[in-house]
Amino acid sequence: MNITIWNENKHEKMNPKVSEVYPEGIHGAIAEAFEGTGHTVRTATLEQPEHGLTEDVLKETDVLFWWGHMAHHEVSEEIVNRVHKRVLEGMGLVVLHSGHFSKIFKKLMGTSCDLKWREADDRERLWVVDPSHPIAEGIGEYIELEKEEMYGEHFDIPAPDQLVFVSWFEGGEVFRSGCTYQRGNGKIFYFRPGHETYPTYYNKEVRKVLINAANWAKPVDRSYPTYGNVKPLETISPK
Ligand code: ZN
Repeated sequence: MNITIWNENKHEKMNPKVSEVYPEGIHGAIAEAFEGTGHTVRTATLEQPEHGLTEDVLKETDVLFWWGHMAHHEVSEEIVNRVHKRVLEGMGLVVLHSGHFSKIFKKLMGTSCDLKWREADDRERLWVVDPSHPIAEGIGEYIELEKEEMYGEHFDIPAPDQLVFVSWFEGGEVFRSGCTYQRGNGKIFYFRPGHETYPTYYNKEVRKVLINAANWAKPVDRSYPTYGNVKPLETISPK
């Protein structure tokens, strides 16, 4: 499988607290999670020409990971439309944390994708609410993160096709943290944790979820459906 990990890579350059946690960037830490899986992993960042997501790169990508936060508005419409088209063609998309407000996620969801939040070192427990789901394979009853940013309901998304994780936060809120969607031929997974100042993407169980999500979201081998005006398969008798 060919995996592309996209990161806006801004906080890492501007905030020493973030570069200390992620010296190779958030994309680097996520790429490291796939070491030894046998998948081919490449990374792409906002500053690269075409944000690193050229036609050729996307054509070769089976699953695209997306981390963005402060620079959603800097992502060009052309690239958003290109990624959108590839998702409908069958490319898997895993949207992480603050990617809930990315242009591509909002376009695919059709809702505001708004939520409430707090940076106060809340403890988070991501409860597995769909134990037979392949994305939860190898995970216990819950994943516990000692410190994370809080995201709280209401999360303005369409009802997920499948809900895999629900988070509890120390401050009292809950959140739909693992949501799957199908759009066209493509599969989408939204996964909540991963605030830039916390070492979440080094957590073994979080990494297991990312690997499971890639396996779940990979394209199935079939051609794009036929749409529009078509000739009949049988002869239609005159009436
Ligand atoms: Zn955050």
